Amino acid sequence: MAETKTNEPASSRIEFHHEPVEARIRHFFEFTSPLTEDEVKEQAARCLTCGTPFCSAMCPLHNRPVDFNRLVREGRWHEAWNALNATNNFPEFTSRVCPALCEAGCTRYLLDDSAVGVKSIERAIIDRAWKSGWVRPENARGRTGKRVAVVGSGPAGLACAQQLARAGHTVTVFEKNERAGGLLALGMPDFKLPKGIIERRLEQMEAEGVRFRLSTAVGTAEFEPGIGSEAKETIEAATLLDGFDAVVIAAGSETPRDLRVPGREGKGVHFAMELLCGQNRASSGAIKEAPVTSKGCDVAVIGGGDTGSDCVGISRRQGAGKIWLVAHGNQPPEKEDKASTWPSYPKKLRVSSSVEEGCERLWDTETKEILLDAEGAVRGIRFVKTKSTYDAAGRRTLEELPGTEFEIPVQRVYIALGYTGPSSALLKAFGVEKTPRGKIAVADEKGERPFATSVPKVFACGDARFGESLIVRAIHEGRECAAAVDRFLMGFTELPTFR
Ligand SMILES: Cc1cc2nc3c(=O)[nH]c(=O)nc-3n(C[C@H](O)[C@H](O)[C@H](O)COP(=O)(O)OP(=O)(O)OC[C@H]3O[C@@H](n4cnc5c(N)ncnc54)[C@H](O)[C@@H]3O)c2cc1C
Repeated sequence: MAETKTNEPASSRIEFHHEPVEARIRHFFEFTSPLTEDEVKEQAARCLTCGTPFCSAMCPLHNRPVDFNRLVREGRWHEAWNALNATNNFPEFTSRVCPALCEAGCTRYLLDDSAVGVKSIERAIIDRAWKSGWVRPENARGRTGKRVAVVGSGPAGLACAQQLARAGHTVTVFEKNERAGGLLALGMPDFKLPKGIIERRLEQMEAEGVRFRLSTAVGTAEFEPGIGSEAKETIEAATLLDGFDAVVIAAGSETPRDLRVPGREGKGVHFAMELLCGQNRASSGAIKEAPVTSKGCDVAVIGGGDTGSDCVGISRRQGAGKIWLVAHGNQPPEKEDKASTWPSYPKKLRVSSSVEEGCERLWDTETKEILLDAEGAVRGIRFVKTKSTYDAAGRRTLEELPGTEFEIPVQRVYIALGYTGPSSALLKAFGVEKTPRGKIAVADEKGERPFATSVPKVFACGDARFGESLIVRAIHEGRECAAAVDRFLMGFTELPTFR
């Protein structure tokens, strides 16, 4: 295909192809399909090759769309893969579930509202790389003899382990669940991220020398309510501190924020992860039936983020009746104010594929009580409308509006109100300090030692350190933490870092 010059009229943005709603809600598996080769090249040709690429600046990984777009446009796929692989350990994850901060920073988005489809191009590159056998183990040139333990196998732990293994260290990943992958494997529905995609990456990592000790909880066997564990054994923090030259805590931010209202104890009220993990385990064949199901029930999902949206998608597929998605914040504007936000990710009303599959959204709504029947099962929920006001620093105050209480009949309530931090028992076992917000405190967050904790040779990265965020940020944290650990062990590092 001939190269499109920037002064030629742009073709339009092409979205991933989606199976129609009626068909996709009949199964739990992936329903998007990639663009054709011609479409991808056409999409790549829309890139304006900006001198200052805000797409890269806005991506936590600093992916380089301007480079790989040009290479794809020119049919130089292997080089495009090299450009992508240089900054991102797992493009097959991000090209499926990243909100694409890069696209919000795209100049085309600013100019004509239609960003280059960077995610679809990234997906085409990584799909081709796997099909062509380009994704091979990248073995270290030599071994350092240093041993590193990584606690947690989410995207942060995996990225950190992979980078450290490639630097020649002997890395063992400890994971309390039966499968590695963290929230990618257990929390995220298969329709967003098929699990086979994680498995083949783990095989690559094993071939690079990373060892996985699954079903092994570190530091504690007792987790807070709402934190799942499939551990069959527990290993003391002291054992890791004695046996390894460095320890990285990449344990996520798993403690769910609870809904403290009367009726919380009712039958049919669950943390979101009970629904999501159970369905994932059933879909994988690990168990016969999901232990929590919305089948035949009207459902209220309390909390409007990714977790809430995933509960809607799973409930719809399980055969729920009416679904309400309830947020106490106000409805974001339908049209973003780019003049004040670009190139940052703008605040605007977003409709996820799950929301599109059918649910009613309630905004400015606070839960007052979960109503129970004589057997203690949920029969409904009582809400009140609220008004949000913001101070100059952007802090929100919620005011309940008198006389606005209302009830809806539901038989299931899922709590998706976010997470407060990693398990306190784990932090206590290592003796690491916490921030006032419950995350692992690091020595110098904005400076030289952003991943070193208060305990010598213990580092932290991902949601456990940063707070609940995005996969792309977790991969970035893992990569940067690996460089910090490598420098700590060797006195220098050749691992890529932006610090
Ligand atoms: C339901 C849901 C949907 C999401 N959807 C999206 C999305 O669409 N896009 C996006 O970008 N982000 C999404 N996110 C956020 C994203 O998944 C997280 O930011 C990311 O997974 C954090 O990575 P992590 O490696 O820091 O932690 P995690 O992925 O949470 O992994 C931590 C791992 O540590 C293990 N662990 C914890 N304690 C111990 C212990 N004591 N011993 C051994 N192992 C331990 C846990 O079992 C877990 O496997 C979603 C989050 C949720 C909950």
